[in-house]
Amino acid sequence: MKSLEQGLDRRAIIWIMNWTFSGTAGCTAVALLITYYYIVPFGGELMATSMRLALFIPLLLAIPLFAFIGIKLQQLALANDLLTLASRYDGLTGCLNRAAFTSDVTAFFADQDLEPFPPTSALMVLDADHFKRINDCHGHLAGDQALVAIATEMRQAVDGSGLTGRLGGEEFGVFVPYARPETIGAMAERIRLAVAERGQAIAPGAEPVTVSVGVALFSYPAHYEDVFKIADDQLYLAKNTGRNRVCLVEYLRRPGGIRAMANQLREGLAGVFTETFGSGRDEPGEEPSSVAGR
Ligand code: GH3
Ligand code: MG
Ligand code: MG
Repeated sequence: MKSLEQGLDRRAIIWIMNWTFSGTAGCTAVALLITYYYIVPFGGELMATSMRLALFIPLLLAIPLFAFIGIKLQQLALANDLLTLASRYDGLTGCLNRAAFTSDVTAFFADQDLEPFPPTSALMVLDADHFKRINDCHGHLAGDQALVAIATEMRQAVDGSGLTGRLGGEEFGVFVPYARPETIGAMAERIRLAVAERGQAIAPGAEPVTVSVGVALFSYPAHYEDVFKIADDQLYLAKNTGRNRVCLVEYLRRPGGIRAMANQLREGLAGVFTETFGSGRDEPGEEPSSVAGR
């Protein structure tokens, strides 16, 4: 990531040089024109001297002035870019922060209202398993490293086909706008496996790092809150059936729309088919996560 201390890059320096050259040339041209217009009637030596002054004075003043203003403008632009980055991205993992992730995904949802043939999309909610124990056993720095590793694996698996966000703490979101139903489960499973594999190295010994993933595969029209609720319910299911698992539900168009399905899931009604991947890490009898604890 860029920083103010690093200074201006090549592109900014070229811009400053162009700006200084154009500004100086403009000022000099105006000074020469005005001088010529007013001094021509006097002619001779006065005319030659005036024209020389009209050339050198603007050069002397404009070059440092335009260069200074140019540098300040570029520094301001850089500071603006950094502020935008800081307001949108999570400083630790480099993922979108919750507000930016939600707003980008919601904007995509809104665009689909106008589409005659909207795509199938997927929303994943991931949560690191027993993360508190990682902090307790290995310290918060190791915990931070594990979060960075999870985010890296997540981004690699998504490979530019979607948005990745840190929703808070050890919880992440992935939105795949154009999801192929036959491959989205494999993508979620790739993330789970990659984290589990790398998790052994991050925290060798007692507590490997794993994630549980809830996935909602859906089509539009849909509301973000409903889809999030469905994915979150699947995460809850993954947690309660052993963790280190993917639980995926596909929203098929049905009466009452996606909201009805969200309610159906909330009430634990039958008829919603969940696909699961991964055998889970918890021993039987380990405490299930509570909704509040997630
Ligand atoms: P579960 O499998 O049920 O999700 O269990 P859990 O331990 O992961 O869940 P819990 O909500 O009990 O604990 C989450 C922990 O995540 C507690 C908190 O200290 C840790 N955590 C949240 N954000 C950060 C962070 O930025 N860095 C570190 N190191 N730890 C964090
Ligand atoms: Mg957790
Ligand atoms: Mg959590």
